[in-house]
Amino acid sequence: MTATTIYRARRILTLNPARPEATHVAVRDGRILGAGTLDELAGWGPHTLDDRFADQVLMPGLVEGHSHLMAGTLWRYAYCGFFDVVDPDGRTWAGAGSLEAVVGALSARAAQGTDAAAPVVGWGFDPIYFGARRCNRADLDRVSTTRPVAVLHASGHIVNVNTVVLERAGFLRPGIEHPGIPLGPDGLPTGELKGPEAMMPAAGAVGLARDFLGSDEFGIRAFGKLCVRAGVTTATDLAASLGEPEMQALLSLTGEADYPVRLVPLLRLIGLTPAQAVDKAAALKARSTDRLRLGRIKVVADGSIQGFSARLRWPGYYNGAPNGLWYTAPEAIRECYTLALQQGVQVHTHTNGDEATALALDCLEAALKSPASAATSAARDHRFTLQHVQLADAAQFRRMKALGLCANLFANHHFYWGDQHHDVTVGPERAMRMNACATALREGVPLAIHSDAPITPLAPLYTAWCAVNRLTASGRVLGAHERIGVADALHAITLGAAYTLHLDGEIGSIECGKRADFCVLEDDPTAVPPEALKDVRIWGTVQGGRVFKA
Ligand SMILES: [Zn+2]
Repeated sequence: MTATTIYRARRILTLNPARPEATHVAVRDGRILGAGTLDELAGWGPHTLDDRFADQVLMPGLVEGHSHLMAGTLWRYAYCGFFDVVDPDGRTWAGAGSLEAVVGALSARAAQGTDAAAPVVGWGFDPIYFGARRCNRADLDRVSTTRPVAVLHASGHIVNVNTVVLERAGFLRPGIEHPGIPLGPDGLPTGELKGPEAMMPAAGAVGLARDFLGSDEFGIRAFGKLCVRAGVTTATDLAASLGEPEMQALLSLTGEADYPVRLVPLLRLIGLTPAQAVDKAAALKARSTDRLRLGRIKVVADGSIQGFSARLRWPGYYNGAPNGLWYTAPEAIRECYTLALQQGVQVHTHTNGDEATALALDCLEAALKSPASAATSAARDHRFTLQHVQLADAAQFRRMKALGLCANLFANHHFYWGDQHHDVTVGPERAMRMNACATALREGVPLAIHSDAPITPLAPLYTAWCAVNRLTASGRVLGAHERIGVADALHAITLGAAYTLHLDGEIGSIECGKRADFCVLEDDPTAVPPEALKDVRIWGTVQGGRVFKA
C-alpha cells in the first residue's frame, strides 16, 4: 500500500451535497480517499497527519472552462490593456488609460532589446475606452516606421498594425474589399484587421501566428503559474491548433513532475474541414494523459460584441454599427456537429451575439435529427456547450435545455464592458440580460462561468464575484435579476465547469475517489460578504496530491 496523507484544514468546503463540510481530507496516490473527521479517515489505515493547512480553507480545485494558453504566452509582449493586471510572477502592471499611453507602452518595448528589426507587439488593447476615434496605422507608425508593430485587442478578435505589417501582409494596396479590413479616406486599409481571415496574414507577417495560437514552452509554463495564483487545477485552452510540435510541447511539459495544471485543449475548427477536425480530435483522444485531456473541438461562430463583430439579431447594435461577422460558415457548423455526434467528439461553440446563438441552436437541432448521429450513444449525453452566449434570451435558454446544451457564460463582461454594453453596443435592456446566469439556472441549463483569459484575467473567484454582484467598472448593478447566489457561483467554477468537459466524475468536488485537486484559501468564500468574494486570498493549490504554493 502506498502512503496516505490526511490534511487537517480550518474548514473544507467539499461541494459534495451528501457531506458539504469536513475538517480533514485523506489523500492516497493523488486521489481522495475521503473527507470527514480524523477518526473516520483514520479507518483507512496507517497515515501521516499533515497540519500545513490548519489555518486555511480548502475547496475543490477551481476549473476554468474557457481560457487560452495564450494568457501565458502573451506575457512575452507589452501589456497595453486599460486595467491593471498581475503577471505570472505576481508583478502588477498598470493599465494604459489613453491611446497615447498605448503608443508609449509600445515605444518603451521597442526601445528594449538589441534586435532593431524585431517586431514590436502589444496585447490587451481596449480602445472602446478611448472615445469614437479608431486607432489607425499612423498611430502605430509613431512607434516605428521600419519595424512591424502590432497590438492585439482585448477581445482577441481584432489586431491593429502599422504600415510595415500591412505591406508585408500584402494589404497596402487599393481595391481591397473585405468586411474585416476597413479602408481609410485614401482607399487603403486603416490598419485595423478584424476576424481570423484578416488577422492571420498579418500575424504571419510578424512571426506571431504560432505564438498567438499555439503553446510554446514559455507560454505553457507561464500559464501554469497563473493557474496556481488563481486556485485553478484544471483549465481549458479553448482554440488550439494541436499540430505535432504543439502536441510534443504539451505532452512533455504537462508530463513534468511539477507541472501544476490539468490542461484541456480544444482543437480549433478554423483552418480545417469539419471532417478533418472531427477525425483529428477523435485520433487525439487516444493520446490523452491525466494532465492533458484531448478529443474536443472548438467552433467559433461570430466575433465580439464590444468589437462590433458579433452577429446580432434584429434590431442590431444600439449605436447603429453594421452587423458583425460569421467566422465559420453555417454549413460547416452543421456538418461539424453531425460528424462529431457520430464519432463521439464533443464540440464547444463560441457565440456572442444572439443571431450566432440562434444559428448554433438550429445547427444542433438539425444534427440531432440526422438519423446517423441521433442513434449514437454520444448524442444522448453530448454536453455540447455554448461559450459566452452573452446575448441569449430566455427562449434561447429553453431551446438549449431542450437540445441538451450547456452554457458557459462570460460573467466577467459585466465589470469590464458592462457600461459600454449599456451605453453603446446593445443598449440598456439587452445589457441587463447579458450573461443571464439566473435564467440559465431557472431553465435548467447546466451552467459554468469563465474569464476567457487573456481577454480578462484568469481568476474564477473574481468571475464568481461578477456573477454574484453584476457590478460594472463604474459601479452600476447591471441586471440585478440575473445575479446568482454565492453557492451557485462556486458550483459554476467547480462542478459546473467540470460537467461541460465530461470531467465531473473525476474533479469539481472533494469526495471519495476523485482527484486530490484543492484550491487552498486564506479566507472562507462562504463567510465573507458576497461583495468581497473577489478579495478572497488564495494560498495556492493541491493538484493530484501535489502541493503548489502561489
Ligand atoms: Zn475564448
